[in-house]
Amino acid sequence: MAAIVDGAVEGEGRRPDPALADFPDTAPGSRRWCFADQLGPHFLDAAQQRGLLIESRAVFARRRFHRQKAHLVLSALRHRAAELGDRAEFHQVGTYAEALDRVREPLSVCAPTSWRSRDFVLSRPDVQVLAARGFVSSRADFVAWAAGRGQQRLLMEDFYRDARRRHDVLMDGARPVGGRWNLDEENRQPPPADGRSPAPAPWWPEEDEIDEEVRADLDRWEAAGDVSFVGDDGPRLFPATRAEALHRLRDFLDTRLGAFGPHEDAMLRDERWLAHSLLSPALNLGLLDPLDVVVRAEQRYRDSVADGDPLPLNSVEGFVRQVMGWRDYTWHLYWHLGRDFRDRNFLAARRAVPHWLAGLDDTAVDAACLSDVLGDLRRDGWVHHIPRLMVLGNYALQRGIHPSAMTDWFHESFVDGYEWVMVANVVGMSQHADGGVLATKPYASGGAYIDRMSDYCRGCRYDPRKRLGDDACPYTAGYWAFLDRTRDRLAGNHRMRRPLQGLDRLADLEAVVEQERHRGTTPP
Ligand code: SF4
Repeated sequence: MAAIVDGAVEGEGRRPDPALADFPDTAPGSRRWCFADQLGPHFLDAAQQRGLLIESRAVFARRRFHRQKAHLVLSALRHRAAELGDRAEFHQVGTYAEALDRVREPLSVCAPTSWRSRDFVLSRPDVQVLAARGFVSSRADFVAWAAGRGQQRLLMEDFYRDARRRHDVLMDGARPVGGRWNLDEENRQPPPADGRSPAPAPWWPEEDEIDEEVRADLDRWEAAGDVSFVGDDGPRLFPATRAEALHRLRDFLDTRLGAFGPHEDAMLRDERWLAHSLLSPALNLGLLDPLDVVVRAEQRYRDSVADGDPLPLNSVEGFVRQVMGWRDYTWHLYWHLGRDFRDRNFLAARRAVPHWLAGLDDTAVDAACLSDVLGDLRRDGWVHHIPRLMVLGNYALQRGIHPSAMTDWFHESFVDGYEWVMVANVVGMSQHADGGVLATKPYASGGAYIDRMSDYCRGCRYDPRKRLGDDACPYTAGYWAFLDRTRDRLAGNHRMRRPLQGLDRLADLEAVVEQERHRGTTPP
C-alpha cells in the first residue's frame, strides 16, 4: 500500500477496476445524462446536445443532509432543467433506474464522482460511460504523472507544479511567475488586529420561484417522513446556475482575490466569510470549469500588473493552488487509493459521532470555538477549511470518533461535501486514519493554535494555556490525552518524536488523562 509522507502517496500497481477504465472522451450523437454535480455546459459535447436530468428522491432518503445542501442541489438541478427546456428530458422519480428505463435512445454519461455511482452506471448496458470531466487534470494526466515518478512519493506540491507546467498557468516560460512555486508561508497570518474582514462582503444570489418550489417540496417530503435534514433552512447563499456562479467568480476576482491569501487560515467569530471565494459549491456542482476559473484569476493578475497595480501574488497563487492543486489532487487520490481507503482506521478510533454533533447543536457545547463553528455550520452549511480541520476535525481526532463516520458527517453537513471530496480530506488529512499517507503527522493541536489564529479564546470560559482544572481548554487537555492514548501507534513516526518527548515530561499527565476520562475526551 502507499507510503507515509506529507501530501504524498507512493505509487504502485493495482488490479484493474472497471470503474477506473480508460473511458472515451465524447459521444456527441447520444443523449447526455448529467448527474446533479455535472450541470455546466462542459458536460455536454455540443451546446445543442440532448440532455437527461434525473431528480432521484432515493438520494435524499439515503442520507440526512444539511437542509441547505438538499435545497442547493435540487435548485441547481431544476434550474438546469429549465435552462435546457425541450433539449432535456427531466424526470422526477424515486430512483435513477425508473427514469433510465423510460429513455428509448442511446445514452451517455460522464463518469460520475463516487465508486457507488460508477458501479451503477457500469451496471447499465444502455448507458455509455465517458471520461470524467470537471477537473483540471485528466485521469490520464494523473496516471502518467504518477507512473513517471516510479517509487517516488506522490507529493501534492509536485503534482501541482506539473499541472501548472502542463496548462501554462502562472508561468513565465519554464519558471513560475515571481520565481517561486508556492508562497504559502506568506498566507498563514493570524486575523487582522481590528477583528474586521480584510475584504468586502461577498455578493449573494437572489432566490426565485424555483427556490420557492424546492422549499415547499422539501417541507412536504420532510413532513411526510420521507426524508430528514439537519441544519437550518435559510436564504440560498450559493450559486444554483452557471450565471450565478460566474457572478460570484467575478465578484471574487473584482473585490476579494487580492485579500484572499494572508488571512486564509484565520478565523473571526463575526466575519466568517473573510476573503474566501465561496466557489467550492459551484465548482463541485459542475457549474464552473476549474481550468477556466484559474485562467480568469491569472488574467486578472496579469491585467493588474499591466495596470501598474499588481494584485498580491501570494493571494493569486494561493487561490490557484487550491483550485488546480489540492482540489484535483484530492479527486485523483480518491480513485488512486482504492475503494477500501475510507475504511482505514490506523488510530483505532471507534466512537460514534455524538448526537449533538450529528444534529449540529451548537448549544450543547461550551467551548467558544467549537460552539461558534458548529453554529455557523448549522446556519449556513459551510465554514472554511481551517474550522473544518483545526476545530471540527481536531475535536474528532482527539476524541477518537470513527473516521468513516466523520467522513459521512462532513459529506452530509457541508453544502460542498461529496464522497470524493471527503474521503481523502477526512480519513487521510484530518483523522490520520491512513497512518500517514496524506500527512506526515496527525493534525492534532492544542488551544494555542486556535488562540493564535482566531479571536475565539478571549470570549471563552476556558483558558487555552491550561490543561488541568475547571478552566482547562478542551483542545489543550484533549491534545495531551490524545497523545497518551495513541503513543504506541505514533511512536514510529519521527515527526512525533518531540511531541511524545513532551508528553513524557508532563508531571501532571496522569491527572490530565484522568480529567479527560471524566470529561469524556478519552474513550473508555
Ligand atoms: Fe477553543 Fe480552548 Fe480557545 Fe476555548 S480556550 S475557544 S475551547 S481553543
